[in-house]
Amino acid sequence: MSLRSIVLLGATGSIGRSACRVAADFPDRVRIVGMSGFSNMEQLAAAANHLRPAVLAVPDGRSAADLRTRLDYEPREILTGEEGLCRLASLEEADMVLVAIVGTGGLRPTFAALEAGKDVALASKEVLVVAGELVMAAAARRGCRILPVDSEHNAIFQCLEARDPAHVKKLILTASGGPFRTWPEDKLRAVTREEALRHPTWRMGEKITVDSATLFNKGLEMIEARWLFGVGIERVDVVIHPQSIVHSMVEFVDGSVLAQLSHSDMRFPIQYAFTWPDRLAGSLPPLEFAKLGRLDFEEPRCDVFPALDLARQAAERGGVLPAVLNAANEVAVAEFLASRIAFPRIWDIVASVMEQTPDHPASDLAALLEADRAARESARRLAAA
Ligand code: NDP
Ligand code: MG
Repeated sequence: MSLRSIVLLGATGSIGRSACRVAADFPDRVRIVGMSGFSNMEQLAAAANHLRPAVLAVPDGRSAADLRTRLDYEPREILTGEEGLCRLASLEEADMVLVAIVGTGGLRPTFAALEAGKDVALASKEVLVVAGELVMAAAARRGCRILPVDSEHNAIFQCLEARDPAHVKKLILTASGGPFRTWPEDKLRAVTREEALRHPTWRMGEKITVDSATLFNKGLEMIEARWLFGVGIERVDVVIHPQSIVHSMVEFVDGSVLAQLSHSDMRFPIQYAFTWPDRLAGSLPPLEFAKLGRLDFEEPRCDVFPALDLARQAAERGGVLPAVLNAANEVAVAEFLASRIAFPRIWDIVASVMEQTPDHPASDLAALLEADRAARESARRLAAA
């Protein structure tokens, strides 16, 4: 593999920072040509001063001015707004774009990258939940690859490589179960923000950490897997695996199962996406099985955590429903993080908004964005009630 030029969208986040470390590990294979940040100009400047991308993107002119004072080199350009993000995503010299913007903010830049013929390393699962069919179609039309960065999908991608799809029986996503895996149901009403943000195995951004606690993260990932690997939702299963060492599995028609294992560090899937199809020796720690001792697996408690059933329902109803589930969840999580609603209200709100939404085909991006907008409004109304 020659040198790959990569744009990092969301360079200041948890995934973005891990991506910067991967890039720094392989300077002769990965060159960062562009980076975006949103509110954290200090972090963006630190990362940019280290990796020196030519083009940067920030939300507005004020952030651009702030960023400039912190840079110790002169970038070619600092772009602003969503328009700037889309221009960064289609940068001439880029081969690949990492989309690691939380929530639906990554949607338009993903389309821009694909339209410009870039391969996409995709962390932002919300993009596929909202517009999976359109995104996969855009990638196919332009002959671009979508390399999954989400650890479960990266694991499945590794297990599926060069396999005949007809041999695949089902995809098995593993889930840590989050901090409340063993909690009694009646204690969930009193869960605090701090408790929800204390994930047992992964260090991540706040939104995905709360999603892991409700299991909506796994629900979103079921829909993500459905699009990435072109299988019906009935062939996507979930098993709880508290140690987060087995990142996911593929069961084949003969009953054999392949799994991918590693420590729970997002640099593993990011590095694989950046250097694919090569495997490079770097600084990542190997597994020592005798020290791990045991790996456990158990059924998810779907009666207590309805997120998986809601996601399956959304995928089965299809059309705009996955976008509605995602939008209602984004709003409910923000309300919970602002300490305005109790923890179980997150899934109550998502379920109510889904119930209120009539089925509608996801004919184009405009239909999806309209469903997203309406779902957010309903979710906000329910949260305020
Ligand atoms: P973080 O909250 O840590 O980072 C989010 C990034 O997006 C930051 O760079 C932030 O900028 C930027 N951002 C926030 N809002 C906007 C916006 N409206 N427009 C443009 N940029 C914005 O999230 P994570 O890194 O944890 O997650 C990113 C994505 O990756 C999510 O979709 C998540 O589901 C997915 N993912 C994350 C994993 C993880 O281990 N963290 C694992 C698997 C998937 P700033 O910080 O400057 O405000
Ligand atoms: Mg994941």
